[in-house]
Amino acid sequence: MNLAEFIIRIEAFNANVNIPLIRKAYEFSNTAHKGQKRKSGEPYVEHCLEVAFILAEQHMDSTTIAAGLVHDVVEDTDVTIEDLRQDFNDEIAELVDGVTKIGAMQYESREEQQVEYFRKMLLSMAKDIRVILIKLADRLHNMRTLDHLGTDKQKRIARETRDIYCPLAHRFGINKVKIELEDLCLKYLEPKIFDSLVNIVKERREERESYIAGFIKPIKEALNKDNITADVYGRAKHFDSINRKIKVRKVPFEEIFDLFAIRVIVNTERDCYHAMGILHSLWKPVPDRFHDYIANPKPNGYRSLHTTVFGPDNKMVEIQIRTHQMHYVAENGIAAHWLYKEGKQQMSKSDRQMIWLRDVLEWQKDMTNPSDFMEYLKIDLFTEDIFIFTPNQRLIHLPVGSTPLDFAFQIHTDIGIHCAGAKINGRLQPLSTKLKSGDVVEIITNPNRTPSHDWLKLVKTSSARAKIRRWLKQAGYDQSVELGREIVTRKLKEMRVKVPPDDVLQGYAEQLDKKTIEDLFAAIGNGSVSSRPLIELIIPEKEEKQIGIVDHVIDRIRGSKGIKVHGMDNMMFRFAGCCQPVPGEEIVGFISRGRGVTIHRSDCSSVALLYSQNPERKIEVSWDTGKGQSFIVQLKIVVEDRKNMLRDITQAIANVDTNVRGAEMYAQDTTAVGKFVVEVSSLSHLNRILDKVRKVKGVISILREKGAD
Ligand code: MN
Repeated sequence: MNLAEFIIRIEAFNANVNIPLIRKAYEFSNTAHKGQKRKSGEPYVEHCLEVAFILAEQHMDSTTIAAGLVHDVVEDTDVTIEDLRQDFNDEIAELVDGVTKIGAMQYESREEQQVEYFRKMLLSMAKDIRVILIKLADRLHNMRTLDHLGTDKQKRIARETRDIYCPLAHRFGINKVKIELEDLCLKYLEPKIFDSLVNIVKERREERESYIAGFIKPIKEALNKDNITADVYGRAKHFDSINRKIKVRKVPFEEIFDLFAIRVIVNTERDCYHAMGILHSLWKPVPDRFHDYIANPKPNGYRSLHTTVFGPDNKMVEIQIRTHQMHYVAENGIAAHWLYKEGKQQMSKSDRQMIWLRDVLEWQKDMTNPSDFMEYLKIDLFTEDIFIFTPNQRLIHLPVGSTPLDFAFQIHTDIGIHCAGAKINGRLQPLSTKLKSGDVVEIITNPNRTPSHDWLKLVKTSSARAKIRRWLKQAGYDQSVELGREIVTRKLKEMRVKVPPDDVLQGYAEQLDKKTIEDLFAAIGNGSVSSRPLIELIIPEKEEKQIGIVDHVIDRIRGSKGIKVHGMDNMMFRFAGCCQPVPGEEIVGFISRGRGVTIHRSDCSSVALLYSQNPERKIEVSWDTGKGQSFIVQLKIVVEDRKNMLRDITQAIANVDTNVRGAEMYAQDTTAVGKFVVEVSSLSHLNRILDKVRKVKGVISILREKGAD
């Protein structure tokens, strides 16, 4: 194709095309790529012309066609984006910049890299959706000319196309490109299957065409009689869809008869329904095979009537009925937005494709785990939709496998959050029920009902999952704030200090580098920050001393040996101050940020709360004690207030071969309270201490003290 030919051909698609701009872009590209050749031996600019032509076929505007002509100059020549900005305009420069950035990404099959690839691509598309149209045109021409590359490269590029570009073309409704790409992928990835499909479609061509002719003739006559102008034709299905059908139905392809479908294209929406009535009077419709995608368009904007009838010889024939406009959108999807809109290419922000793109970009912010994001994206890109109705006949699209919870979140976040049950077609059903197209679903809400972690397993859609996660995160934060506040309040109460008012606390929080006191409480509550710095700010140093000794001791001597963390070597860990486990007791680990693993007793109440918020941070641990190792336990002993009490208790403890690391005692009404920090080697050692102390005269009770952690 030379320039003159190119211009004649693109004018057929768009009479208003800006010829001077196209010429300029061509000359620019031709000069920049001078001397470069494709693997096929053709001058490089041929590729640019073909890419621009694919865009013109989709009725794209002049800017996009021009950008198609220069799409490779930045990647493959000395030209810069700035040069394009100077010589052309910002729009073309930005389009080429987007395409170049996608081209610079190295696609690899590792999941994290795939995610990064998608993420970047979606971001560049969000700036200007035409970037993906140019990239798809580029990919289509590269796939068409793949024969010139080596087998390894062919496979790699085909795989990338199948994983990334086909799903995107599908999501944006660019069916014509998608079908051709899918067939080309099949050709290079499964050449044997592809060849046999080509053969069988070819072999049956005559048979098929005469069957189609016989089928179409009475339809045309009947439509004519009713004054409906229509194009009626049969077309072979594309190879990839035949292949998928064979795989799904698990039949040999000799038995797949429906290698073609009939299309009826009419002028108006009314004519679509009229034509369908005529068809159903001529050929008996197959029950349950009728879909009205005109009243209920697919999420990618596709509209048509679909039906299947028993044709001659009782063979099932699929028929699609649509207007010319619907047909155009069905073939070109999002590209259809630019048709006849030369000069005003802005896409409406409310367009469903843009909403989808925006949603995806929103979710990915919430997803720190790349495989989560990939999984969500796959569900959104690859799965077929089902249609569910609200009791008021509002239609909701959901991916196959969705549950009433997905439905509830789709209607409104609040309905999802408080979803307590669901009636499907009038009957109460579990929330885990998989919905079917046509179900009427009524959600029962209860203001007291809120999401739990289990819900993540029940939902299929990314948006519902993201909303549940966000809610759980917020609820976890709220619980942490409460817990943190309680820890601090309790400590202050023990020291008989009043909790300062919130504005004072706010000041302390800021001193401790937290934005709000809630943030500080949350950090204390979830264990990422100790309560100590705040307590120190509240209570001037001297007053604090008396009570502080024990806590200081514990902080200093928490062990660093004696635990095996399953599957991990050299894990940093420490014993929780709240429950102070000793060997022989059942323990669990909790991964805390930046501080390794905290070891708690299994029955510790504060750990139960931490787990309920962050079950993924739980880790299995076991004791790994050697000789001579000791563990710190804090004891609280209530005694009668008598002389030498402290000495007697200390002695009792020392008698069972125990190191006392700290001791203090203070009077409380008629009794006294003692706190002892002891080193023990095992649970039985600890029990011996408890026995001995209980026998000391005047001891009222002895308990393991629950500290705050
Ligand atoms: Mn290219």
